[in-house]
Amino acid sequence: MSKLSFDNTQIAFQGKDNKDLNRAYWLFKIISSNFLTQVGPPITNFALNVGLPIKGLIRKTIFNHFCGGETIGGCAGTISSLSAQGVGTILDYSVEGEEEEQVFDETMEETIRTVRAAHANKAIPFSVFKVTGLGRFDLLEKVNAGNDLNPEEMEEFERIRNRVDLICKTAFELDVLVLVDAEDSWIQDVIDDLAREMMRRYNKEKPLIYNTYQLYRHDKLASLQADFALATTAGFYLGAKLVRGAYMEKERKRAQELGYPSPIQRDKAASNRDYNGAVLFCLDHLDRIGFMAGTHNEESSRLLADELDKRNIAHNHPHVYFAQLLGMSDNLTFNLASAGFNVAKYVPYGPIKAVMPYLFRRAQENTSVAGQTGRELGLIMKEKKRRAK
Ligand SMILES: Cc1cc2nc3c(=O)[nH]c(=O)nc-3n(C[C@H](O)[C@H](O)[C@H](O)COP(=O)(O)OP(=O)(O)OC[C@H]3O[C@@H](n4cnc5c(N)ncnc54)[C@H](O)[C@@H]3O)c2cc1C
Repeated sequence: MSKLSFDNTQIAFQGKDNKDLNRAYWLFKIISSNFLTQVGPPITNFALNVGLPIKGLIRKTIFNHFCGGETIGGCAGTISSLSAQGVGTILDYSVEGEEEEQVFDETMEETIRTVRAAHANKAIPFSVFKVTGLGRFDLLEKVNAGNDLNPEEMEEFERIRNRVDLICKTAFELDVLVLVDAEDSWIQDVIDDLAREMMRRYNKEKPLIYNTYQLYRHDKLASLQADFALATTAGFYLGAKLVRGAYMEKERKRAQELGYPSPIQRDKAASNRDYNGAVLFCLDHLDRIGFMAGTHNEESSRLLADELDKRNIAHNHPHVYFAQLLGMSDNLTFNLASAGFNVAKYVPYGPIKAVMPYLFRRAQENTSVAGQTGRELGLIMKEKKRRAK
């Protein structure tokens, strides 16, 4: 067993001076107030839309905590500070909700810039994109539902496929690993099909393109296994990012409203069981699967770390990565890095107004109701006490 401790707050917060730590303390304190998290989004959106000068406040607080900057260049400080602590950066262009062809092209071009940045800098081990950043949601939904497309829609879908392909092709030529994020279940089959197509094309020599498996869905451990069987017969490596899944409430609500069975597991224990099962499955086939455990869950992270030791697999095996989001679960990230494991942070970036939906999601999942804040605040308070001694 590894002597890994996730309670070592000195290592967890070594990159934060007292000022940063205090800022994080107050931020999580405020976020834990459910009232503020509920009323915050409409008030903030209103203020930004009418041009009230609140950008500075947002930048100094929640933006600086959860985001790397507004541009790739603006993330340089975060990249080098993470890298100095043995942690990789995944530049995540987090602009959401724009539904125009021109914006989809720009997002593709920006993602390709992150691929080039990754090629030029060892501190950036992966690139990432969301298919909804490259194409219209309603069209993806229509394709997913198996509805016939008219000729214009067929062309539009072809453009989405081409954008995905251009990102993956550039990554292949520059030898950069790419993650495809998972999204809502009613568009996920299309995303899976595109990701499989890319893996078939670009994963012949190694796992380069990674699709995402949301183990809060009761069918996703089986999908992972089916994709592995396909990869074996078709002769490509499987790339898999394992997550529990971010859209549980939305999924359950929609299923109930439209009267179909919810795709989400019955309870948390079932999500945990399948998540850990997926980790073990990937380890069992590590010669042909590259995988990333994208999780803030301590038990799953410990399971993976312990299993690597039990199986005598090097901590820095190129097929195994841990990953957390910037500003969250630093106790996992930096203690894992300090024990020599491959670890990376998703570092979201983009213009402040455009990344607000991402920030609201982080705030919401960090309310005291959701539970993560208790964890984050507890660790920050422990470190404050340690430093005061
Ligand atoms: C690097 C990284 C990349 C990510 N990429 C994606 C992505 O591409 N797509 C995506 O959807 N999410 C993504 N996420 C978010 C992720 O899916 C989770 O929402 C988040 O990490 C919390 O889950 P956890 O594994 O950290 O563990 P925990 O905090 O232990 O688990 C919380 C999660 O468990 C599940 N859960 C909670 N209660 C129940 C219940 N009653 N029944 C069933 N399941 C339950 C939910 O998925 C919930 O989010 C990513 C996270 C990270 C760290």
